[in-house]
Amino acid sequence: MATWDEITSTLKKGVNFVGSKSKELVAITKLSTEVNALKKERTEMLAALGAKVYRLVQEGSLENADLSAEVAGLSDLERKIAEKNEELEEVRKDSPARVTEEKPEIEVLEPEGCGHEIPEGANFCPVCGRRV
Ligand SMILES: [Zn+2]
Repeated sequence: MATWDEITSTLKKGVNFVGSKSKELVAITKLSTEVNALKKERTEMLAALGAKVYRLVQEGSLENADLSAEVAGLSDLERKIAEKNEELEEVRKDSPARVTEEKPEIEVLEPEGCGHEIPEGANFCPVCGRRV
């Protein structure tokens, strides 16, 4: 597993990770989204449980209440979140992707012929109209 220092120093040496990063980024993004959805669900369940407990306390019937379904549901969510986080760790472990998540600056290519700067992706030189 590469440490942060190793990754950044490797990047400074100009090693290009672009080839391997996309697949990992997709996986990381997908897993992060799933973890966030599970956490949102947990927050909602906790709020519902809190509201129920509050109502039961007000009614004076908390001692006799059965909250096992709510507790089991929350335990289940906790387990799922832990599993997803482990998957995330696995993907991130050997991946330098998080270092390069930022969008690269627009690359300006040197034209071969006219000497004008051509923006990346352009088909024609914006100055003289020469086909790139
Ligand atoms: Zn030109």
